[in-house]
Amino acid sequence: KTWHQTGLTSKTLEMIKKLNYEKPMPIQAQALPIVMSGRDCIGIAKTGSGKTLAFVLPMLRHIKDQLPVVPGDGPIGLIMAPTRELVQQIHSDIKKFSKVLGLRCVPVYGGSGVAQQISELKRGTEIVVCTPGRMIDILCTSAGKITNLRRVTYLVMDEADRMFDMGFEPQITRIVQNIRPDRQTVLFSATFPRQVEILARKVLNKPVEIQV
Ligand code: AMP
Repeated sequence: KTWHQTGLTSKTLEMIKKLNYEKPMPIQAQALPIVMSGRDCIGIAKTGSGKTLAFVLPMLRHIKDQLPVVPGDGPIGLIMAPTRELVQQIHSDIKKFSKVLGLRCVPVYGGSGVAQQISELKRGTEIVVCTPGRMIDILCTSAGKITNLRRVTYLVMDEADRMFDMGFEPQITRIVQNIRPDRQTVLFSATFPRQVEILARKVLNKPVEIQV
């Protein structure tokens, strides 16, 4: 498959060319047409497979149709991941594309840089990539004054199996319950144990399953 068969916009294709990504990786070739069409998707894929762009590129397009985001608005795209390191990694992958498109992305995790994260959230941002625990803290302790989930229509759970291993299930469930049900949802996991399957059944709507 070529990039032109994935349904991406010409601006995104241009940026991909500049990054020298010659052709889509297998998970991208399979997932992009499905996610670009608006369907929910479960992807079974490991780190290094190229899974990040499989959910990031359709998100950029999804957001573009719903601008603008003004101060006081919460994000349109929300990505949850198990660790600070993965949040930072996804954030840096998103930045390669979002800057040119004029979209903002705020990473949300505990530790250093929290004050900066909070001030960026207050200004309004199109995208948040977070660890579930830290996101709950920000939503609850500020009673929605820092950011909120009202505008989220594109939700990603990355490395879902690892989020379970780390005990994030209650926080994930709580976040998902506060997002409108007519959202698009994408779940990626390296493995697909029973508990992840149960979560997927609750949270996704007629998902297409793919595996690499
Ligand atoms: P990921 O599994 O999403 O962490 O991606 C693994 C690495 O592959 C990252 O460093 C990406 O920048 C890179 N990458 C993603 N898509 C492609 C592609 N189509 N061609 C070459 N490299 C890619």
